[in-house]
Amino acid sequence: MTAYKTMSKEELKREYEAVSSEFSALCEKDLKLNMARGKPSKAQLDMVSDIFNVLTKPEDFISDGVDARNYGNLEGLSAARRYWADMLNVRAEQTFVGGSASLQLMYDLISKAYTHGLLHSPRPWCREEKIKWLCPVPGYDRHFKVTESFGFEMISVPMTDEGPDMDLVEEMVKDPAVKGMWNVPKYSNPDGVIYSDATIRRIAALKCAAPDFLVMWDNAYCVHEFFGEFVPFLNILEECEKAGNADMVFEFASTSKITLPGAGMSVMASSEANISYLSKLIGVQIISYDKVNQLRHVKYLKDKEHTLELMKRHAAIMGPKFQTVLDTLDEKIAPLEIARWKRPKGGYFVSFYAMPGTARRTLELCKQAGVTMTGAGATYPYGKDPEDSNIRIAPSLPPVSELEQALEVFCVCLRMATLEKLMA
Ligand code: PMP
Repeated sequence: MTAYKTMSKEELKREYEAVSSEFSALCEKDLKLNMARGKPSKAQLDMVSDIFNVLTKPEDFISDGVDARNYGNLEGLSAARRYWADMLNVRAEQTFVGGSASLQLMYDLISKAYTHGLLHSPRPWCREEKIKWLCPVPGYDRHFKVTESFGFEMISVPMTDEGPDMDLVEEMVKDPAVKGMWNVPKYSNPDGVIYSDATIRRIAALKCAAPDFLVMWDNAYCVHEFFGEFVPFLNILEECEKAGNADMVFEFASTSKITLPGAGMSVMASSEANISYLSKLIGVQIISYDKVNQLRHVKYLKDKEHTLELMKRHAAIMGPKFQTVLDTLDEKIAPLEIARWKRPKGGYFVSFYAMPGTARRTLELCKQAGVTMTGAGATYPYGKDPEDSNIRIAPSLPPVSELEQALEVFCVCLRMATLEKLMA
């Protein structure tokens, strides 16, 4: 295999003809494969489905003297708050255990900032002339959709191997219109970056012009390694407290990729003052979340140590899939020198960078050949990747045999799109 950049016009043309006929042959196979979203596979869901056996008798529903089947405990069942305190290394009083999705807690927080304001807001955000928001890129499309839906102006901040470019962030927060920032501090979606301790401390110590600046700390992948041992993380709440910014941060997590996405247990953690402020507002919309589900989770997952053991079993299913992606790319794409990609040790994605100007076309071709991937540009605010380069590969859902086929298609489509660009 030869690097495309060393090929003559004639050689590129011949290669294009060869790749095009491979593409046509793949199209004829009528494939229907999906690498679009970070969903656990059926094998993973089957593995945890005994969670439904932990609550059977009436007495099983009583926890610390509280009947989980009844109204009450808006901030969450005490046992669930203790569970998350253990998982995130925070105090139980700093937690608020919600429903089945952390995304809803995130949306709700921003929505309440918009309608009512946060603890230190001079006025609700809807009364602000303009709101700007920092978005490390590439990032999670659903985060960007939330801030887009409230009409905030999203400002891209490039990611480095240590997290967002902090020189830029420190400069940006001097603008009082900049009200917040998205973060996925561990195994960031999609790059798989773990923020360094130095980055975390700089975020915690930010000197923001906005008195109600909001750090959204989405620790969605806090225990989600698929290669190697659990990587400990700094307690952002404590770091913010130490820096005099105790009320600036809200941390989020859920069991979506520990137990069942859409039927898991979510949490939000922040200063006691913030939790008390938010609880009053949330109490208007709901009497209490699903504590039966919370109790089921606590009985099933027990504590952090036990959860980490379960994550090892998830890793045994996930690891080979990520290995397949990396091996295939190393074998089929690396020698062509037309792309680069990350080598994450956890999370749910492989972040792939095609030659600028080819991502959209690559995915269009994949679609024609029956392989659905996350849309090009999705990892950038407003769905616009200025380089048209980043592609998020989500290999968790298909079994390895299907994944191999999907990757074959992806590699052919990438080569074809790259050749089209080179020959243009
Ligand atoms: N945050 C990130 C970074 C994610 O990747 C995902 C799931 N893809 C979520 C949040 C969604 O979490 P939940 O199911 O708890 O809403």
